[in-house]
Amino acid sequence: MISCLVLYRGSDFCQFLRHENNKIFFEDKEVKCPIIYTGPLDELFKYKYGQLSYRSLKFEFLNLNEDKFQNTAVVNYPAHPIMTRITEYKNMTLENHSGTIISKEYPGAFDKKSKDFNVPYYPMPTDNSREQYKKYKNLADNYKNLYPLGRLATYKYLNMDQVIKNALDLFKNMVEK
Ligand SMILES: Cc1cc2nc3c(=O)[nH]c(=O)nc-3n(C[C@H](O)[C@H](O)[C@H](O)COP(=O)(O)OP(=O)(O)OC[C@H]3O[C@@H](n4cnc5c(N)ncnc54)[C@H](O)[C@@H]3O)c2cc1C
Repeated sequence: MISCLVLYRGSDFCQFLRHENNKIFFEDKEVKCPIIYTGPLDELFKYKYGQLSYRSLKFEFLNLNEDKFQNTAVVNYPAHPIMTRITEYKNMTLENHSGTIISKEYPGAFDKKSKDFNVPYYPMPTDNSREQYKKYKNLADNYKNLYPLGRLATYKYLNMDQVIKNALDLFKNMVEK
C-alpha cells in the first residue's frame, strides 16, 4: 500500500499509474493516499468515451533588435485571420535593456499528434462535450481518493484566481473529511 506519492514535474500521471476496479495502482501497489489530478480526464481514462475537445495555442517567440515593439504588454488582433495577440514581455516587467522579446499567439484545435497544437489549453464546452465530460466525471467519482482539480480536469474555463480558490476549497474539504 502506498500512503504518499510525489510525481515530479514532467512525470506523466497516466504513464505511471494504472487503475482498475475503482482502485489506483503504482507498480502493482495500491495507492491509498489522495491523488489530486490536474490533467484531462479523457486522457486519464484512455479515451474510453472519445476525446474531449480542447483549444490549443501556438506561440511564436521573436527576439528583436529594436528596443520597443509596442506600447503595452498585450495587443489583441480580433480582425486578424489567424493570430490572436502579440505580447511584449518587457512591458510587463518594466525592464530597461536593449532589444525586446515578443510572442505571437495562434489558436488551433488540440491534437496530441500535432506539431504546433499538442498542448490542451482551453476546454471547448459544447453541449456534446459537456455530456461526454459528465461520463468521465462519473467514472472518476468511483475512485474515492481521486480528486480532479483545475481547468483541464474539471473541463471549465477558469482563471487563476478561480483555480486557486478551488484548490483551497478542495484542501479544506479534504482536511475536514
Ligand atoms: C495563454 C493563456 C493566458 C492566460 N492568461 C490568464 C490571465 O491573464 N489571468 C488569469 O487569471 N488566467 C489566465 N490564464 C488561465 C490560467 O493559466 C489558468 O487559469 C491556470 O493556469 C489554470 O490552472 P490549472 O492548475 O487548472 O492548470 P494548469 O496551469 O494548466 O496546470 C495543469 C498541470 O497539470 C499537469 N498535467 C497535465 N496532465 C498531466 C499528467 N498526465 N500527468 C502529470 N501532470 C499533468 C500539466 O503539466 C500542468 O502543470 C491564461 C491561460 C492561457 C492558456
